[in-house]
Amino acid sequence: MILLRTAHNSRRALQSFGALALLCCTALASCSFVSLPASKSIIRMLGTTSTITIHNAREGANLDRAFQRSFDRITEIHASMSLQEPSSEINKVNNLAGQAAVSVSEDTFLVISAALDVARASGGAFDPTVGPIVNLWDITGKKYLPTAEEVAAVLPFVDYRQVEIDPAARSVKLLKAGMQIDLGAIAKGYAADEVAEVLREEGVDSAIIDLGGNIYVLGSKPDGTPWRVAVQNPFLTRGTYLASYLAVDESVVSSGDYERYFEQDGVRYHHIFDTRTGYPARPSVASVTILAANSSMLADAYATAAFVLGPEAGRQFLESVAGVEGVFVLQNGGLAGTSGVEHSERFRILDESFTWID
Ligand code: AMP
Ligand code: MG
Repeated sequence: MILLRTAHNSRRALQSFGALALLCCTALASCSFVSLPASKSIIRMLGTTSTITIHNAREGANLDRAFQRSFDRITEIHASMSLQEPSSEINKVNNLAGQAAVSVSEDTFLVISAALDVARASGGAFDPTVGPIVNLWDITGKKYLPTAEEVAAVLPFVDYRQVEIDPAARSVKLLKAGMQIDLGAIAKGYAADEVAEVLREEGVDSAIIDLGGNIYVLGSKPDGTPWRVAVQNPFLTRGTYLASYLAVDESVVSSGDYERYFEQDGVRYHHIFDTRTGYPARPSVASVTILAANSSMLADAYATAAFVLGPEAGRQFLESVAGVEGVFVLQNGGLAGTSGVEHSERFRILDESFTWID
């Protein structure tokens, strides 16, 4: 069931932010009978709650339509790419693994193509064929620690090089039976990009798109100053922030071991996997936050990739990509950032127990 929750004030919208939040004050304005800022949420899409807060729009803009079209777009992307929807295109591709190519929508083809690009660029640290590992561990489900044999048994079915795509037919084929694509690390980012596009078309020039902590800030604050996006402290309860980042027309996306996990015998088993081992990635990192101007989809994928790669290889990887910065929060409380963000005035540390390590 889909529920729409409406909040006509920014405080409630703030409370609904996940890993990241916005620290902002906005003046009330009004536009096409909806008082601004206006915030609405949709739940259970792409495994999360999505909240859109519109802060400013051109005169005469139809904000009800802007919200509705945004949520329709999220629902459409969910219907194509979610593993929770039995009839999704991704499930069709997975069900025909080892048998046949499946023609998919432009959306799905674009996201799978981008996922394979990031897989190649990151040497497989990000791998959209991670599905069999995700299913085996079922991190938020049965809290079951698989045996080493069970983990070893799924590894042969995880390999992005065994995905064949045909742009002419817009089709996707998994070459081995048992393979499964999982777009959980990239689809929310794509949806955020698409919502930004819809909002711009509808005349919105200042808004916050929050897809379960995957934040896209559209434009600046109505007064022309940048948004201040807060970064979750990965060691404390949600809503406790370690830093803030000044952003205009940018994505701020975090991946961390605090998002989904279970603990057994003092070990945390979380939802981001090292596909070489089949176990949750064990870098010295608690979270990675990506700041990206051009694509929330890539920011989402890079956050996951950088988390798996860890601070050294991860930083090197991010430095090789234009328009992308990243901050690693290490397990020991140190911060490591790419050259454009480390010691930058845009990234303000709020909790002095965190410091840059170089
Ligand atoms: P994120 O929170 O964006 O880092 O995405 C995590 C989700 O992506 C997990 O819940 C899995 O569904 C999937 N995933 C886990 N490990 C990987 C990986 N190494 N590459 C790509 N997707 C992954
Ligand atoms: Mg991701």
